[in-house]
Amino acid sequence: MSSIYVHIPFCKQACTYCDFHFSTNQTLRGKLVDALCREIHMRSAEVDGPIQTLYFGGGSPSILNAEELSKIFDALTQAFNLTQLQETTLESNPDDHSGENLKLWRSLGIDRLSIGIQSFIERDLRLMNRAHDVSQAETCVRSAREAGFNSLTIDLIYGIPGQSMLEWQGNVQKALALQPDHISAYCLTVEERTALHHLVENGKVIEKEDTVIEDEYLYLHQALETAGWRHYEISNFGVAGKEAVHNSNYWSGQSYLGFGPAAHSFDGQSKRRWNVSNNAVYIRSIEQGVAYWESEVLSERDRSNELLMTGLRRADGVDLNLLPPAHRKAILSSVESLTGGLLESLQVEGAVITMDATKWLMADAVIRALMIA
Ligand code: SF4
Repeated sequence: MSSIYVHIPFCKQACTYCDFHFSTNQTLRGKLVDALCREIHMRSAEVDGPIQTLYFGGGSPSILNAEELSKIFDALTQAFNLTQLQETTLESNPDDHSGENLKLWRSLGIDRLSIGIQSFIERDLRLMNRAHDVSQAETCVRSAREAGFNSLTIDLIYGIPGQSMLEWQGNVQKALALQPDHISAYCLTVEERTALHHLVENGKVIEKEDTVIEDEYLYLHQALETAGWRHYEISNFGVAGKEAVHNSNYWSGQSYLGFGPAAHSFDGQSKRRWNVSNNAVYIRSIEQGVAYWESEVLSERDRSNELLMTGLRRADGVDLNLLPPAHRKAILSSVESLTGGLLESLQVEGAVITMDATKWLMADAVIRALMIA
């Protein structure tokens, strides 16, 4: 079954670390929602059977009002078979968790909220220019539960400059105390052309050392595993049965359709396409009926390397039986030539290679060593 991703490229304000595609100028919102609905209708023939998961990401989909969200849901319902949906996720920010919005999201069939908390420390939220405050971070999970959501995931960020180890431990414990079903924790990376990059370049913010970041990661891993959670992907933890279905489909190479500016699509075989990352050009192109995307056909080698990349960052590992025999052989022979810490981080059982979760931060080095040239 296929998945659908809908990209909503608008935010209230720009977080200092963010390099996703979004705009804080809301003037094109109405036109963009109309173009998005047209794209959904135009591409309805690309999937035959039922859709398994729906995911609204961005940007900030929780910024949309009832009319805008309803229009998009109507278009999806008309264009695709949504009768067998297993998961419908909306990315939301704590400042958008009004009683009215929570009710609206439930009424539309959204059953999973991904809440961008990031930190429970006001200083961190201001450094990152988040639109919410600590009290909203602390109350949003409870209010979502009370509104009937039984699948809640929260985002945390580690590696935040100026945050002590004790504070990070406090953030992890506060997250656990809120009893979400899932936690996604990402390392703060300083991307070029972001406000944070500018602050680092000017010496106003000092990045954390890799060893400190590693200690924070290890604390997170140990604290959540001790609490009975499953660390099933480098950035993702779930209580039993609450692993993200949508993202797991991506990682296992299943097909998905992406709608909206900057959204990617994959046919589950070899063809990938991505929409233009520009709201005005996206709207104009759809209105004029001209191409608004680029595409590529992946070679067998690209596919094998992608499965290796995603597999080694997951608890399930990479099953080499899914790769052509020559690629399987090449990877196994590269494993044999590894030495030291890289070799010790891997387990090989039959044709399945897994990497020790405590070593996932060095997955890039292992993947580089095993990739098929
Ligand atoms: S709310 Fe999300 S998408 Fe928007 S600027 Fe912040 S991190 Fe980026």
